[in-house]
Order: sequence, then structure tokens, then C-alpha cells
Amino acid sequence: MSSRSLTPSPSRRRPLRRLLAVLAGTLAVLAGTLAATPAAAAEAGTLAAPNFKAPYACGQRWTYSHHSAEVRRALDFVRADGGSTAGAPVLASAAGTATRHYQAGGAGNYIVIDHGGGWKTYYFHLASFSVASGAWVGQGQQIGTTGSTGNSSGAHIHYEQLYNGVGQNIRINGSALAYPGGYHQYYLTSDNGCGGGSSFMTWGSGVRVRADAYLSSAVVTTLAGPTRVTVVCQKQGDTVNAEGYTNNWWSKLRDQGGFVSNIYIDHPDAKLPGVPNC
Ligand SMILES: [Zn+2]
Repeated sequence: MSSRSLTPSPSRRRPLRRLLAVLAGTLAVLAGTLAATPAAAAEAGTLAAPNFKAPYACGQRWTYSHHSAEVRRALDFVRADGGSTAGAPVLASAAGTATRHYQAGGAGNYIVIDHGGGWKTYYFHLASFSVASGAWVGQGQQIGTTGSTGNSSGAHIHYEQLYNGVGQNIRINGSALAYPGGYHQYYLTSDNGCGGGSSFMTWGSGVRVRADAYLSSAVVTTLAGPTRVTVVCQKQGDTVNAEGYTNNWWSKLRDQGGFVSNIYIDHPDAKLPGVPNC
């Protein structure tokens, strides 16, 4: 069955894959060899940060600051385009699993999104929640509304990016933001939810990307290992049977310019939520 490895991504959620991985590990130990592949795959996963986008709606311009009493490497955002900060939709900066939290006298109502691979984002002081706790959210999906709950002197989004629990310098679309001591020195216009696609991880190795959603379509490129991809849309094509799964949905990848079977997108659903049909 091809050169694909049975090594899934670190954030696998499918019991069958876990079982296969356990079996593979057991076999490797029985054979007296320690497989190098799982460690290499885990390492590759930790390096792949999501392509985070601004935590507010497409086209809106906000200003941001960091103050010395701030926890970790947070930035506080307020609107700077004439619109109201209070009540503005708060959007997921990348896809993941959202959980609700509350901390009186601190973060207030807040959401944590687990993006997998050790990456999380925090959104504090929400006026209200827009998703259930434990919900999977797509990039650009509304998760709450901007407010001033908890220890806050006015409506703003307190936003953080953490890797393995440690606050990181915030990057949006791959570019590091400044850490000014006050507002109206730096501004950021959001392209989140503008229709540019949703971020996912693939799993497996030697995964073929094809010109169309059919096994007869030309191979345009191959994903060597787990890869962060941007899915712009999905459609039904040839049914693929691989790695113990059967699925006829395919995802169109923005940066690779072709389609990959949804079997290799690291999400438990056959049809990805929050992704439009092609
Ligand atoms: Zn803050």
C-alpha cells in the first residue's frame, strides 16, 4: 500500500490511527529496532505554527499595545476604524478546539483554542460566547463578542499565542507584531474570514496532491510529511480507500494548487466543517 507511513500527526484524534500507531510501535520493539520515524514526525509537528490571523473581522483596522503588567506576551486590541470595540465579533485566529473559561477579577469570560502541535491562542474579557465549550472552530469563525469582563478598564480583546504553555511573541500572517507601550502607534487590518481558506495539518508521508479530485488526475506535488495547509474549498470526487478509511471528499489546497483526499487532513470528520464546497 504505497510508501505511506503509519505515523500519524501528534494531534491525532482517530482511535484507529492510535491503534495502528501502537501496533507499529509494538512491532518495532519486537523486531528489536526503535523506529526513528515517530520522533522525526513529532519534531516536524512542533515546528509548524499555524498561520494565525487577526482575532477580529475581515477589513477592520484595530490598534494594539502591551503594558508592563501584562501577562506573558499578550497584546490588547481596540478598534481604530470608527467602529465600536464593544460587541465586535471575536474570531478564531486559526482552526482548533475552543473551550470556554471564566476567571473573576482576571481574564473574565475567555476562550482558549487548542490548534494542535502545542499551539494555543487566548481571547480574554469577552462580553459573550458564540460557540459551545469543546466545539471545533474554523479559522475566521466567530467565537465571542468583545467586552470588558474580569479585570479590564474598557472593552478590548486581550490576545495571546502560546506554544507548549509559554507565551510567544505574536505573529499574524507569519509577521511579528510590535510591542508598543500605548495605542495608536501600530495598527493591524484583519484579513481573517475574508475567504482565504482554513488552516489544517495533514498526516502521513508521501501524500499525493492531484490536479483534480480524481485518482486519474495528474499529481502536481507530494507532501513529504505532516504539512500545514490552507484549504480553500472541498468537493466530492473519487472514493479513496487508504489507511483504513474510505472517503470521497477532497480538499483544494491553496498553496499546492491541487486536491488531496480528506483522509489525509487531520480532522475526524469526512467532510470538513467551516469549509465551503468548491
Ligand atoms: Zn491584556
